[in-house]
Amino acid sequence: MSSLTQHRYLPSFHHHGCTKSTSVHRIRVYCSTKTTTTMKSKPNADQLIVEPRFAPLPTAANYPTESDTSLQSTWSHRAWVAVGCTTLLISLGESIKGSMDMNIWVEPILAGWVGYILADLGSGVYHWAIDNYGDGSTPFVGAQIEAFQGHHKWPWTITKRQFANNLHALARVVTFVVLPIDLLFHDPILQGFVAVCAGCIMFSQQFHAWAHGTKSRLPPLVVALQDSGVLVSRSQHGAHHRPPYNNNYCIVSGVWNEFLDKNQAFEAMEMILYFKLGVRPRSWSEPASEWLEDIQIASQTQSQ
Ligand SMILES: [Zn+2]
Ligand SMILES: [Zn+2]
Repeated sequence: MSSLTQHRYLPSFHHHGCTKSTSVHRIRVYCSTKTTTTMKSKPNADQLIVEPRFAPLPTAANYPTESDTSLQSTWSHRAWVAVGCTTLLISLGESIKGSMDMNIWVEPILAGWVGYILADLGSGVYHWAIDNYGDGSTPFVGAQIEAFQGHHKWPWTITKRQFANNLHALARVVTFVVLPIDLLFHDPILQGFVAVCAGCIMFSQQFHAWAHGTKSRLPPLVVALQDSGVLVSRSQHGAHHRPPYNNNYCIVSGVWNEFLDKNQAFEAMEMILYFKLGVRPRSWSEPASEWLEDIQIASQTQSQ
Protein backbone atom coordinates (compact mmCIF):
# COMPACT_ATOMS: atom_id res chain seq x y z
CA MET A 1 0.00 0.00 0.00
CA SER A 2 2.85 2.34 0.81
CA SER A 3 4.31 1.94 -2.67
CA LEU A 4 1.09 3.24 -4.20
CA THR A 5 1.08 6.48 -2.32
CA GLN A 6 4.81 6.93 -2.15
CA HIS A 7 5.60 7.26 -5.84
CA ARG A 8 2.94 9.89 -6.44
CA TYR A 9 5.18 12.46 -4.83
CA LEU A 10 8.30 11.79 -6.82
CA PRO A 11 9.36 14.97 -8.61
CA SER A 12 9.08 15.44 -12.33
CA PHE A 13 12.11 16.43 -14.37
CA HIS A 14 12.07 19.18 -17.00
CA HIS A 15 14.87 20.45 -19.22
CA HIS A 16 14.07 24.12 -19.47
CA GLY A 17 17.07 25.13 -21.54
CA CYS A 18 16.44 22.73 -24.40
CA THR A 19 15.18 24.66 -27.41
CA LYS A 20 16.83 22.98 -30.40
CA SER A 21 16.66 19.32 -29.57
CA THR A 22 13.67 17.35 -30.82
CA SER A 23 13.59 15.04 -27.80
CA VAL A 24 13.71 15.54 -24.08
CA HIS A 25 15.16 13.26 -21.45
CA ARG A 26 12.51 12.62 -18.83
CA ILE A 27 12.48 10.27 -15.92
CA ARG A 28 9.20 8.44 -15.78
CA VAL A 29 7.80 6.45 -12.91
CA TYR A 30 5.07 4.01 -13.60
CA CYS A 31 3.70 0.71 -12.49
CA SER A 32 3.40 -2.34 -14.64
CA THR A 33 -0.38 -2.54 -14.30
CA LYS A 34 -2.36 -0.40 -16.74
CA THR A 35 -4.31 2.69 -15.71
CA THR A 36 -7.80 1.58 -16.59
CA THR A 37 -7.69 -2.19 -16.56
CA THR A 38 -10.34 -4.13 -14.73
CA MET A 39 -7.87 -6.74 -13.45
CA LYS A 40 -7.98 -7.36 -9.76
CA SER A 41 -4.46 -7.28 -8.40
CA LYS A 42 -2.90 -6.49 -5.08
CA PRO A 43 -0.46 -3.60 -5.04
CA ASN A 44 3.09 -4.83 -4.94
CA ALA A 45 6.31 -2.90 -4.36
CA ASP A 46 7.96 -4.96 -7.13
CA GLN A 47 5.53 -3.44 -9.64
CA LEU A 48 7.11 -0.05 -9.23
CA ILE A 49 9.54 0.49 -12.08
CA VAL A 50 11.68 3.56 -12.47
CA GLU A 51 12.94 4.07 -15.99
CA PRO A 52 14.46 6.99 -17.83
CA ARG A 53 12.73 7.53 -21.16
CA PHE A 54 13.18 9.64 -24.22
CA ALA A 55 9.86 11.29 -24.92
CA PRO A 56 9.48 13.08 -28.25
CA LEU A 57 8.52 16.71 -27.95
CA PRO A 58 5.28 17.77 -29.62
CA THR A 59 5.99 19.42 -32.92
CA ALA A 60 4.77 22.82 -34.03
CA ALA A 61 2.16 20.93 -36.07
CA ASN A 62 0.17 19.75 -33.03
CA TYR A 63 0.89 22.72 -30.79
CA PRO A 64 -2.17 24.99 -30.45
CA THR A 65 -1.87 28.60 -31.52
CA GLU A 66 -3.91 31.60 -30.42
CA SER A 67 -5.78 31.63 -33.73
CA ASP A 68 -6.59 27.91 -33.51
CA THR A 69 -10.20 27.42 -34.65
CA SER A 70 -10.71 24.86 -31.85
CA LEU A 71 -10.53 27.78 -29.39
CA GLN A 72 -13.20 29.83 -31.17
CA SER A 73 -16.95 29.78 -30.52
CA THR A 74 -19.34 28.46 -33.13
CA TRP A 75 -23.00 29.46 -33.47
CA SER A 76 -23.91 26.07 -31.99
CA HIS A 77 -21.77 26.85 -28.89
CA ARG A 78 -23.45 30.25 -28.53
CA ALA A 79 -26.92 28.74 -28.94
CA TRP A 80 -26.28 26.17 -26.18
CA VAL A 81 -24.96 28.85 -23.81
CA ALA A 82 -28.04 31.00 -24.56
CA VAL A 83 -30.37 28.06 -23.87
CA GLY A 84 -28.44 27.21 -20.68
CA CYS A 85 -28.66 30.81 -19.44
CA THR A 86 -32.40 30.92 -20.24
CA THR A 87 -32.90 27.72 -18.28
CA LEU A 88 -31.07 29.22 -15.29
CA LEU A 89 -33.08 32.45 -15.52
CA ILE A 90 -36.37 30.49 -15.50
CA SER A 91 -35.22 28.73 -12.35
CA LEU A 92 -34.15 32.01 -10.71
CA GLY A 93 -37.41 33.68 -11.78
CA GLU A 94 -39.45 30.83 -10.31
CA SER A 95 -37.55 31.19 -7.04
CA ILE A 96 -38.05 34.97 -6.85
CA LYS A 97 -41.74 34.81 -7.86
CA GLY A 98 -42.45 32.00 -5.38
CA SER A 99 -40.61 33.86 -2.62
CA MET A 100 -42.69 36.99 -3.25
CA ASP A 101 -45.95 35.04 -3.32
CA MET A 102 -45.14 33.18 -0.10
CA ASN A 103 -43.30 36.13 1.45
CA ILE A 104 -40.25 34.05 2.36
CA TRP A 105 -36.70 35.22 1.72
CA VAL A 106 -34.32 33.63 4.23
CA GLU A 107 -34.89 30.04 3.10
CA PRO A 108 -34.43 30.62 -0.68
CA ILE A 109 -31.29 32.72 -0.07
CA LEU A 110 -29.93 30.05 2.28
CA ALA A 111 -30.73 27.39 -0.33
CA GLY A 112 -28.83 29.44 -2.93
CA TRP A 113 -25.83 29.66 -0.60
CA VAL A 114 -25.89 25.88 -0.06
CA GLY A 115 -26.05 25.50 -3.86
CA TYR A 116 -22.96 27.71 -4.25
CA ILE A 117 -21.02 25.69 -1.64
CA LEU A 118 -22.04 22.31 -3.09
CA ALA A 119 -21.29 23.43 -6.66
CA ASP A 120 -17.63 23.81 -5.65
CA LEU A 121 -17.60 20.29 -4.22
CA GLY A 122 -19.33 18.96 -7.36
CA SER A 123 -16.80 20.69 -9.63
CA GLY A 124 -13.96 19.07 -7.65
CA VAL A 125 -15.39 15.55 -7.76
CA TYR A 126 -16.14 15.81 -11.49
CA HIS A 127 -12.73 17.31 -12.29
CA TRP A 128 -10.97 14.60 -10.25
CA ALA A 129 -12.99 11.88 -11.99
CA ILE A 130 -12.25 13.01 -15.55
CA ASP A 131 -8.60 13.82 -14.76
CA ASN A 132 -8.02 10.30 -13.48
CA TYR A 133 -10.34 7.87 -15.22
CA GLY A 134 -11.50 7.05 -18.73
CA ASP A 135 -10.22 8.32 -22.06
CA GLY A 136 -11.43 9.87 -25.28
CA SER A 137 -13.63 6.87 -26.02
CA THR A 138 -15.58 7.07 -22.72
CA PRO A 139 -19.30 7.59 -23.45
CA PHE A 140 -20.70 11.10 -22.84
CA VAL A 141 -17.57 12.56 -21.19
CA GLY A 142 -14.83 11.37 -23.60
CA ALA A 143 -14.50 14.81 -25.19
CA GLN A 144 -14.27 16.46 -21.75
CA ILE A 145 -11.56 13.99 -20.65
CA GLU A 146 -9.51 14.78 -23.74
CA ALA A 147 -10.09 18.50 -23.28
CA PHE A 148 -8.82 18.38 -19.69
CA GLN A 149 -5.76 16.35 -20.70
CA GLY A 150 -5.07 18.98 -23.36
CA HIS A 151 -5.55 21.65 -20.69
CA HIS A 152 -2.86 20.10 -18.47
CA LYS A 153 -0.47 20.06 -21.40
CA TRP A 154 -1.25 23.60 -22.58
CA PRO A 155 -2.90 25.41 -19.60
CA TRP A 156 -2.59 28.86 -21.20
CA THR A 157 -4.99 27.93 -24.02
CA ILE A 158 -7.98 28.30 -21.67
CA THR A 159 -7.31 32.04 -21.52
CA LYS A 160 -7.51 32.21 -25.33
CA ARG A 161 -10.62 30.03 -25.56
CA GLN A 162 -13.70 32.06 -26.43
CA PHE A 163 -16.50 32.32 -23.87
CA ALA A 164 -19.15 30.08 -25.49
CA ASN A 165 -16.51 27.57 -26.64
CA ASN A 166 -15.47 27.17 -23.00
CA LEU A 167 -18.99 26.93 -21.56
CA HIS A 168 -21.13 25.12 -24.14
CA ALA A 169 -20.56 21.56 -22.84
CA LEU A 170 -21.68 22.44 -19.31
CA ALA A 171 -24.53 24.60 -20.70
CA ARG A 172 -25.82 21.50 -22.46
CA VAL A 173 -25.73 19.44 -19.24
CA VAL A 174 -27.45 22.24 -17.29
CA THR A 175 -30.19 22.47 -19.93
CA PHE A 176 -30.97 18.76 -19.86
CA VAL A 177 -30.93 18.55 -16.04
CA VAL A 178 -32.48 21.88 -15.02
CA LEU A 179 -35.18 22.34 -17.68
CA PRO A 180 -37.23 19.32 -16.45
CA ILE A 181 -36.87 20.63 -12.86
CA ASP A 182 -38.13 24.04 -14.06
CA LEU A 183 -41.18 22.41 -15.58
CA LEU A 184 -41.98 19.98 -12.77
CA PHE A 185 -41.20 21.86 -9.56
CA HIS A 186 -42.26 25.31 -8.47
CA ASP A 187 -40.92 25.43 -4.92
CA PRO A 188 -38.98 28.70 -4.44
CA ILE A 189 -36.48 27.11 -2.04
CA LEU A 190 -35.67 24.22 -4.39
CA GLN A 191 -35.45 26.60 -7.35
CA GLY A 192 -33.15 28.91 -5.38
CA PHE A 193 -30.82 25.98 -4.76
CA VAL A 194 -31.00 24.74 -8.35
CA ALA A 195 -30.49 28.17 -9.96
CA VAL A 196 -27.34 28.99 -7.98
CA CYS A 197 -25.85 25.48 -7.95
CA ALA A 198 -26.39 24.88 -11.68
CA GLY A 199 -25.31 28.45 -12.47
CA CYS A 200 -22.02 28.02 -10.61
CA ILE A 201 -21.41 24.68 -12.31
CA MET A 202 -22.15 26.09 -15.76
CA PHE A 203 -19.86 29.09 -15.21
CA SER A 204 -17.16 27.06 -13.42
CA GLN A 205 -15.17 26.88 -16.66
CA GLN A 206 -15.19 30.70 -16.81
CA PHE A 207 -14.01 30.88 -13.17
CA HIS A 208 -11.36 28.31 -14.15
CA ALA A 209 -10.25 30.44 -17.11
CA TRP A 210 -9.99 33.50 -14.82
CA ALA A 211 -7.84 31.43 -12.43
CA HIS A 212 -5.34 31.13 -15.29
CA GLY A 213 -5.41 34.85 -16.03
CA THR A 214 -2.78 37.36 -15.00
CA LYS A 215 -3.86 39.88 -12.39
CA SER A 216 -3.14 42.91 -14.57
CA ARG A 217 -5.30 41.60 -17.42
CA LEU A 218 -8.31 40.48 -15.36
CA PRO A 219 -11.23 42.82 -14.59
CA PRO A 220 -10.67 44.39 -11.12
CA LEU A 221 -13.96 42.92 -9.86
CA VAL A 222 -12.81 39.40 -10.78
CA VAL A 223 -9.50 39.94 -8.98
CA ALA A 224 -11.39 41.21 -5.92
CA LEU A 225 -13.68 38.14 -5.95
CA GLN A 226 -10.65 35.83 -6.32
CA ASP A 227 -8.74 37.57 -3.55
CA SER A 228 -11.72 37.40 -1.20
CA GLY A 229 -12.26 33.69 -1.87
CA VAL A 230 -15.62 34.04 -3.61
CA LEU A 231 -14.05 32.63 -6.80
CA VAL A 232 -11.20 30.14 -6.98
CA SER A 233 -7.90 31.99 -6.65
CA ARG A 234 -5.08 31.99 -9.19
CA SER A 235 -2.56 30.66 -6.65
CA GLN A 236 -4.84 27.86 -5.47
CA HIS A 237 -5.60 26.60 -8.97
CA GLY A 238 -1.97 27.10 -10.02
CA ALA A 239 -1.06 24.38 -7.50
CA HIS A 240 -3.25 21.93 -9.45
CA HIS A 241 -0.94 22.35 -12.45
CA ARG A 242 2.22 21.60 -10.46
CA PRO A 243 3.51 18.25 -9.12
CA PRO A 244 2.15 16.05 -7.70
CA TYR A 245 -0.84 16.95 -9.97
CA ASN A 246 -3.39 15.42 -7.62
CA ASN A 247 -4.87 18.27 -5.58
CA ASN A 248 -6.92 21.50 -5.77
CA TYR A 249 -9.50 20.00 -8.09
CA CYS A 250 -12.37 22.38 -7.09
CA ILE A 251 -12.81 25.31 -9.49
CA VAL A 252 -15.85 27.32 -8.34
CA SER A 253 -14.76 28.98 -5.08
CA GLY A 254 -12.07 26.50 -4.08
CA VAL A 255 -13.51 26.49 -0.56
CA TRP A 256 -13.40 22.68 -0.42
CA ASN A 257 -9.83 22.26 -1.69
CA GLU A 258 -7.99 22.55 1.61
CA PHE A 259 -10.41 20.23 3.42
CA LEU A 260 -10.40 17.59 0.67
CA ASP A 261 -6.63 17.66 0.21
CA LYS A 262 -5.81 17.70 3.93
CA ASN A 263 -8.05 14.72 4.56
CA GLN A 264 -6.84 12.94 1.41
CA ALA A 265 -10.45 12.46 0.34
CA PHE A 266 -9.59 11.81 -3.31
CA GLU A 267 -6.78 9.43 -2.35
CA ALA A 268 -9.31 7.49 -0.25
CA MET A 269 -11.74 7.29 -3.18
CA GLU A 270 -8.91 6.21 -5.50
CA MET A 271 -7.94 3.42 -3.10
CA ILE A 272 -11.55 2.25 -2.80
CA LEU A 273 -11.93 2.16 -6.60
CA TYR A 274 -8.60 0.37 -6.97
CA PHE A 275 -9.36 -2.32 -4.42
CA LYS A 276 -13.00 -2.75 -5.52
CA LEU A 277 -12.56 -2.52 -9.30
CA GLY A 278 -8.80 -2.76 -9.89
CA VAL A 279 -8.83 0.56 -11.76
CA ARG A 280 -5.81 2.80 -11.34
CA PRO A 281 -6.14 6.59 -11.47
CA ARG A 282 -3.88 8.45 -13.89
CA SER A 283 -2.30 10.45 -11.04
CA TRP A 284 -0.61 7.30 -9.67
CA SER A 285 1.51 7.05 -12.78
CA GLU A 286 2.93 10.54 -12.89
CA PRO A 287 4.67 12.19 -14.48
CA ALA A 288 3.16 11.17 -17.80
CA SER A 289 3.67 13.18 -20.96
CA GLU A 290 -0.01 14.04 -21.27
CA TRP A 291 0.06 15.78 -17.88
CA LEU A 292 3.27 17.73 -18.23
CA GLU A 293 2.96 21.26 -19.44
CA ASP A 294 4.91 21.81 -22.65
CA ILE A 295 7.09 24.49 -21.18
CA GLN A 296 9.74 24.05 -23.85
CA ILE A 297 7.35 24.58 -26.74
CA ALA A 298 5.54 27.37 -24.90
CA SER A 299 8.81 29.25 -24.42
CA GLN A 300 9.75 28.69 -28.06
CA THR A 301 6.41 30.06 -29.23
CA GLN A 302 6.56 33.08 -26.96
CA SER A 303 10.06 33.93 -28.13
CA GLN A 304 8.96 33.92 -31.79
ZN1 LIG B 1 -7.03 18.90 -13.90
ZN1 LIG C 1 -6.47 24.74 -15.05
